Amino acid sequence: MTVVDTPERRQLRELTRAFVTKEVLPYLDDWERAGGVPRSLHETAAKIGLLGIGFPESVGGSGGDLLDSILVTEEVIRSGGSSGLIAALFTHGIALPHMVASRDDGLIDRYVRPTLAGTMIGALAITEPDGGSDVAGIRTCARRDGDHYVVNGSKTYITSGVRSDFVTTAVCTDFPGSGALSLLVIEKGTPGFTVGRRLEKLGWHCSDTAELSFVDVRVPVANRIGPEDTGFLAIMQQFATERLSLATQAYATAQRCVELATRWCRDRSTFGRPLASRQLVRHRLAEMHTRAEAARAYVHDVAERVAAGEPVVTEVAMAKNVAVAACDFVVDAALQLHGGFGYLRDAEVERHYRDARILGIGGGTTEIMNEIIAKGMGL
Ligand SMILES: Cc1cc2nc3c(=O)[nH]c(=O)nc-3n(C[C@H](O)[C@H](O)[C@H](O)COP(=O)(O)OP(=O)(O)OC[C@H]3O[C@@H](n4cnc5c(N)ncnc54)[C@H](O)[C@@H]3O)c2cc1C
Repeated sequence: MTVVDTPERRQLRELTRAFVTKEVLPYLDDWERAGGVPRSLHETAAKIGLLGIGFPESVGGSGGDLLDSILVTEEVIRSGGSSGLIAALFTHGIALPHMVASRDDGLIDRYVRPTLAGTMIGALAITEPDGGSDVAGIRTCARRDGDHYVVNGSKTYITSGVRSDFVTTAVCTDFPGSGALSLLVIEKGTPGFTVGRRLEKLGWHCSDTAELSFVDVRVPVANRIGPEDTGFLAIMQQFATERLSLATQAYATAQRCVELATRWCRDRSTFGRPLASRQLVRHRLAEMHTRAEAARAYVHDVAERVAAGEPVVTEVAMAKNVAVAACDFVVDAALQLHGGFGYLRDAEVERHYRDARILGIGGGTTEIMNEIIAKGMGL
């Protein structure tokens, strides 16, 4: 019995699986080609309570904790969804938590509730063209002018940036690169705020990604999340959830690919025998399964500790790297076992192979996770 295996959580799994089967699987290929998921999907997911999982009912959520969110992510992918779908539909998982933590009723009413109701879409903009790993080096600046900030700068690689109604934006409230950061909620349509082209990518095709530009954008001070210059801490505090979500996407993608490859190897015969009858293939599948399961167990263990309030920054970084490594190994092996079919767009495993590549880059790269781990070791 694992931590997520309670009767309520089994129900949540069933709800998620039914949602993916009915509302996602018939359309996912079209969304991949279109480059985004429809807004109506957010409303549908909200109506059955899926969008608000992991957010308290007091802010419009459905309740549940980090482990419930992890379960939903896991089940979406294991039911045939994808990490790209998670990125697109659950972007609020990175756009809203700072607002919820700030307990600012104005921001919660204007942005959190409508987003969890599926009628607004939010994004989180930290990364800039000059660099994403060095968060303290952010150069997009906000200068105070009466009741407003005047924002200048640009952001890039922003998930759901094309569709979003508002962007939780990291800005420097002192000189560029000073590390004195604040978070401002900037609404689409504010003069001077433009969304550039939709960026084309290797994977995550159903998740739109944008460049954002800010030229003398006037943002009300009321749209600042928490006190001035507390943005860096707020970003770091929420990174644990984002990194565990990415770790979950990684091991769940691996689990799904083990299932796909196992089914394929049972059905596919070469030289007169099913692939699965050959020891080399069986051992390869066994290794894939072992790595996916070990990653799942470790990510669950670390998530439990985060949910219990333990300061496990190093372990979160290790969990992300362990799960990404397992995923990288498994998607490559799964595609290889599919032979030529694995390389075709018709093969689900092909999508997972492409989608998986971002997991060791987004939310802090594998190298940055290693930096955190090394610091945790006292190095
Ligand atoms: C599809 C997609 C979606 C994304 N969504 C979002 C989003 O919604 N919001 C957002 O803010 N960002 C988003 N990102 C950006 C992502 O978080 C960054 O790409 C990531 O943090 C890395 O930053 P960078 O690309 O600037 O690489 P850089 O920081 O320039 O790093 C380049 C390389 O150098 C390595 N490196 C950097 N510093 C060190 C060091 N000290 N030691 C050793 N190696 C180092 C890195 O690991 C990497 O391999 C997204 C990116 C993609 C591709």
